[in-house]
Amino acid sequence: MSHATSVVPSPVILDWTHAAIGPLAPCVCCGKPALCRSPVKDVPCHKHCAETWITQHARDAGHLAQLIAAHTPRGGGR
Ligand SMILES: [Zn+2]
Repeated sequence: MSHATSVVPSPVILDWTHAAIGPLAPCVCCGKPALCRSPVKDVPCHKHCAETWITQHARDAGHLAQLIAAHTPRGGGR
C-alpha cells in the first residue's frame, strides 16, 4: 500500500498532439513550471491541468463537449 493511484478518473482526454513545447513557464492552472503550451491559447499549461479544469467546469455533457472543442486545435487530421 505504498503507492498511491488517482481515484478521480478524468473523462476528458484532449488531443494536444500538435501542442507546442516552450521553455519552462508557470502553468496558468497550477502555477508550476510547464513545458507544454496550450495549442489553442498559446499559454503555458499542463495538458492534465487543462483536462482537469474542463472536468471541473463542465456543467453537463453538452457543455463538456463545447469545452473540449474549445481547447482542441482544429485541422489536426489532414
Ligand atoms: Zn499545471
